[in-house]
This record gives sequence, structure tokens and C-alpha cells, in this order.
Amino acid sequence: MKIKVNNRKASDDQFDRAADLIGLKKDIRESLKMPNRELMVEVPLRKDDGSIQSFRGFRVQHNNSRGPFKGGIRFHQEVDLDEVRSLASLMTWKTALVDIPYGGGKGGITLNPHDLSERELERVSRRFFRAIDPIIGVNKDIPAPDVNTNAQIMAWFMDEYGMSHGHTPGIVTGKPIDLGGSLGREAATGRGCAIITRETANRYNMDLEGATVAIQGFGNVGSYAGKILSEMGCKIIAVSDVHGGLYEPDGFDIPVLFDYNYEHRTVKDCGQGSAITNEELLALECDFLIPAALGGVIHKMNVDQLKCKIVIEAANGPTTPPASEILYNKGIRVVPDILTNAGGVTVSYFEWVQNLQQFQWEEDEVNEKLERRMVRAFEEVIAVCNEKKTSLRMAAFAVAIDRVAQSFELRGV
Ligand code: NAD
Repeated sequence: MKIKVNNRKASDDQFDRAADLIGLKKDIRESLKMPNRELMVEVPLRKDDGSIQSFRGFRVQHNNSRGPFKGGIRFHQEVDLDEVRSLASLMTWKTALVDIPYGGGKGGITLNPHDLSERELERVSRRFFRAIDPIIGVNKDIPAPDVNTNAQIMAWFMDEYGMSHGHTPGIVTGKPIDLGGSLGREAATGRGCAIITRETANRYNMDLEGATVAIQGFGNVGSYAGKILSEMGCKIIAVSDVHGGLYEPDGFDIPVLFDYNYEHRTVKDCGQGSAITNEELLALECDFLIPAALGGVIHKMNVDQLKCKIVIEAANGPTTPPASEILYNKGIRVVPDILTNAGGVTVSYFEWVQNLQQFQWEEDEVNEKLERRMVRAFEEVIAVCNEKKTSLRMAAFAVAIDRVAQSFELRGV
């Protein structure tokens, strides 16, 4: 069961509590909360049968005190302005937390891409990019993939932009490698999540070797996190996707499962484990529970069933604020999304840098740089967590908000 989250309230509450923690001045607080710009567009699509269908598209630019706006484009039937606004602000805090020179933005179209043919998807993608063209730019706002958008859609975006502005690979990240994408980008969010899990285990004196892990959502982030954690010695005992979950108490053969899932885009019928539901997966006894699918999956109604030691938030916003509070009071640590899943935007930043230099780095170099940034951000969060005696989430927000506030003040208005 997934409950409808009031996204704006959730992000405002988190912001306010962290702003209180660092004693942020009232005027700066109001300014940092307010999105810089919100664009709502009509995206008309000529369907294959000749008819026209219109969709609603959004691009929200939350804050650019530290650099150009940065954030993904989501294609989903539940996308609305409120959700895009909240995700845009999360990007501001995430980019600040890992200390990359970006602000935060997000975009989307309210549509179910599975209802469209491949050619319709291309037309609607190109039309949307034309519609937001006036406000994007390689030094202004750099989109990327998000839920239901991928490297192919980024290739269409880049091509569309190039028609009026000349060849500009740095206009989007998450592109195919052949068009200037970065080596290591596909695995980056999962790799970052695994690095943060490893650091968390070290920090709280847990043995990573044999540690049990349950992963909800074995998509891009979940599957790479699982693969890398299993290489680090963890035992992945449960995985799931939109079709349901699988439980294997002795641990899955992850290389085999990973390849199966890569080919079939599901773990269903992989020949390992026994069937469980997504709700049962959340309630399994394990060391690390990694929600890596959707927002709002851990909420007031199911939080008491959790039996993990630590929640590693790979998805954006998987734990509602009331559930977070309950977990904190119970002593179950939650490593927040803006830290755990920041590996993706970090390697997106590396992709942009490579594009600006018209150069390509080796994969090892990308992974080393990612490792350093993730570990540094983790240590900064732990330092504030200890100093302020607060949750990891509040500490992460405090580090990020403080950084954005400093840039904001230095720039002036
Ligand atoms: P994805 O589409 O590759 O994978 C999502 C997975 O979740 C799939 O296995 C899907 O079947 C599963 N899923 C969907 N609905 C579900 C449901 N109701 N119950 C259980 N499982 C369900 O997406 P992704 O790129 O892996 O993103 C996952 C999450 O991580 C999202 O919240 C996304 O915003 C966040 N995130 C992704 C990146 C990135 O670089 N891909 C970066 C930061 C954050």
C-alpha cells in the first residue's frame, strides 16, 4: 500500500526543522523556500492515428545560488506541480550536500509513457523540450533522466536542442555513452547507495560481511546497489519490483539475478527465492532495508511492522515525515535520500564537466571521484548529527541549507 503524500508540506516541514537547527534568519529562510521559477506548458502530441492529445508539462527551478539548476524529467501519470516543486527543492539540497556547483530543478509531463508508441514518445519528448527551451541552457538549467525517462530520451532532447543552438552535449546528462554520456553513470546511484551503506555499517560497528539486505525496487538504483553490496560481502535476502517480491533467506545469487533482471526488466520468474509481497518485504527482519522504488512507501500505517536495523533511502522520499519521526524514536536509523541517492547527480556533474572539456574520463577515475565525494558528504552529516544530537536526515538538511544560505548571502539580491 502506498499513501498519497502531501509533498509540499513534507518538504517544507523538513526544511523548517533543519533551518531551526542552524538558526537560519527569517528572510533568508523565506527566500530559500520559494521556487525561483515555475513553468507550466502544454505539450500537444500528434498520435500515430492522426489525432491530437495534449499533456501538461512542468519545469520548476528551485534555487540556483550555487550554480545552474539541475534535475531530472519524470514521465508519469501522477506528476503534478506540487510533486515537481518538492522534487526540485530536494535537488537543491542534494547538490549542496555533495558539494557540486549546481542548484536544484525538476520537470515532468503528466502522462503514462506505456500508453504511447516509441514514435509518439519521441514526438512528445521533443515537443516538451522545445516548450522549455527558453529557460534551459548549459549554464542555466541542465535536465537529466528520472522515473520513466532514460538515455534514449536524453538523446532526443540533446538533438532537439542542437537544432536551434548547435551541438551542445552538456545540455542534458544521463546520455548514451556514444553521445557524450559518462562511463559509470548507469551504476552511479546504486554505487553511491552501496558506498553509503558501507560507511553506515562502519560507523555503527556493523559487520558488512554477511549483513542481510532487503531491496524494494530492483530497477536501475536497486539492482546496482544490490550488485555492489553483494560484491562487498552483503547477503541480499529479498528483492522486488512492481510485479511483487522474492525472498531467499540464504541470499540470492546476485550476478545471475542481476543479468536476468537486466534482460527481462523484472525479477519475476527468475527461478530463485519464494514469492512475497512488497509489503511483506518491508517487514522482513534484516540489517539494511533499502526502499529503491517509489516515494511514501514507509508511512504511519506500516512503520510499526519494520524489523530492519537501518533504512537506507535509495528512492526519493520513501519515508513520510511522521514515519521518520517514529523510526527515530524507536532507534531505527534512516539514512536520508539526499545523501544516499546523490551518486547519480554527482556523476551527472562529472558528465557535464567532461562535455564542457570535450573529453572522456576512464570509468575507474569516475568511480574514485564518486567515492571521495560520497564519503566526504557522509562524514559531514555524521559530524553535524553528533554535534546537534539530531537525526541523520536533519543533519543532512542542515549541512545543505547552510551551504545554500551562504552562497545566497554572498551573491546578494
Ligand atoms: P527504475 O524505473 O529503473 O526502477 C524502479 C523499480 O521500482 C522497478 O524495479 C519497478 O518495477 C519498481 N517499482 C515500481 N513501482 C513499484 C511498486 N509499486 N512497488 C514495488 N516496486 C515498484 O527507477 P530508478 O531509476 O531505479 O529509480 C528508483 C528510485 O530512485 C526513484 O524514486 C528515483 O526518483 C530515485 N532516484 C533515481 C536516480 C537514478 O539515477 N536513477 C537518482 C536519484 C534518485
